[in-house]
Amino acid sequence: MATEPTKRLIVVSNRLPYVLESHARDKWTLRPGSGGLVTALLPVLRDRGGIWIGWSGTTEEVPGIDEIFRGASREAGYVLKPVSLTQEEVDRYYHGYSNESVWPLFHDLQSRCDFEPEYWHTYVKVNRRFADALAEDCGPDDFVWVHDYQLMDVAHHVRERGDSADLAFFLHIPFPAPDIFMKLPERNAVLTSLLAYDLVGFQTQRDRRNFIQCVRTLVKHARVRVEGHLHVVRIGEREMRVGNFPIGIDADAFARSAIAPEVEERLRSVRASYAGRQIVLGLDRLDYTKGIPQRLRAFADLLERFPEVRGRIHLVQVVVPSREGIPEYDALRVEIERLVGGINGRYAELGWVPIHYLYRSLSQTELLAFYRSADIALITPLKDGMNLVAKEFCASNVEENSVLILSQFAGAAAQLGQAALVVNPYDVEETADAIYNAFCMNQGERRYRMRTLRRNVRTQNVFWWVDSFMRAAIDKELHDFPVLEEYIPEHHEGR
Ligand code: UDP
Repeated sequence: MATEPTKRLIVVSNRLPYVLESHARDKWTLRPGSGGLVTALLPVLRDRGGIWIGWSGTTEEVPGIDEIFRGASREAGYVLKPVSLTQEEVDRYYHGYSNESVWPLFHDLQSRCDFEPEYWHTYVKVNRRFADALAEDCGPDDFVWVHDYQLMDVAHHVRERGDSADLAFFLHIPFPAPDIFMKLPERNAVLTSLLAYDLVGFQTQRDRRNFIQCVRTLVKHARVRVEGHLHVVRIGEREMRVGNFPIGIDADAFARSAIAPEVEERLRSVRASYAGRQIVLGLDRLDYTKGIPQRLRAFADLLERFPEVRGRIHLVQVVVPSREGIPEYDALRVEIERLVGGINGRYAELGWVPIHYLYRSLSQTELLAFYRSADIALITPLKDGMNLVAKEFCASNVEENSVLILSQFAGAAAQLGQAALVVNPYDVEETADAIYNAFCMNQGERRYRMRTLRRNVRTQNVFWWVDSFMRAAIDKELHDFPVLEEYIPEHHEGR
């Protein structure tokens, strides 16, 4: 394996970390996007230079698109390379195969899957297009890091071209157990595709074990052994490696931003309006994996069984719009709003409404003010690859006096489970009991637990994640990559 210091980092993901916006006829601009992956990788690429390949985010004809991206690349500090997709491709590859087949299946929700054969054919075609874009820029010394479930098939097409670049893949979502994975009609093709990478990384030991069990079950000629902290899979003459690398956040940046004057100001007004009452915060993208209805039922159960908390606690539930226009997501929103209305109607008193519900995305200032104002964070996904909100909440809790309630099925539970209150999100009474315990928890225990959580998110941060992944992939760390003078952003802060 090549280890020359000239390696560049090439990131490949479904979307570029910039969003194209149309203002007037033929007037387009780019603005930095949001989301877990972007939040995690942006500081790393900015510091190190490199190339990011992804879908431009629109199916419309954009005049001067190359110049728009060149301009944004200069600002971003690395090269943004857009891949074009038609509306039909987006519908079948992204909404179809990625979000209606893989997403529900990999979150153990097979009854929500739509295994439409055409989806898969388009998925293969689009993954080949990403491989073609990669081939245009990628040299034999570069390190290619492909991200997530939309692009599991890229390495397979790169190998078909005979290219031997170092190809690594990280799955941000969970990987299911064999009895669930077996339901995927393309199970053999997907496993073969993943095995074409040199390294496949998962969030947790659970996901990695599931993958290895699937390989053992479905790939009869595969030989698997453990080497250090990795599994090595041998198929014929070829070897590839498998590991788990829990993604982190830039915890110090969150802690710094959380005490910015505009956040403090916002915090004062939030605290003034909730004076004397504890705030329980739920904050999720609209998704059926996040367990929002179950959480609302648990909060209702708390109000029913522990009437002493009425008038002394609020659930602030923020739902960030996502995948709008897709019937399952629209139906989920209706269900959430019906539950909120029912609970508020039943328990509200003059001057006190139990659930404050916001259906919108938040500015960074609002997000941090919500994180800081919460006495309890209630993070109860039915299954989640990691859950960055849990980590961001801890990093932002600079006063170290809040409680984290966390689903045992969030990837984050593997790292944060010892100091959080861990619940089974399907168990409404257990979750209600945990909220009550958090509500009653004394300052000393709160502080002890939150300090432990914050130590963890600070130590196992996004830089640690990238370092550990790259060390496993190419025996390199972040600082081994060349810092290209012309790419250093003006306000370079380093790590
Ligand atoms: N977030 C956002 N807009 C908002 C509120 C939150 O982009 O209005 C971010 C949040 O800071 C976090 C990400 O969305 O980084 C959610 O990541 P997570 O892993 O918790 O869940 P995902 O949505 O990726 O399933």
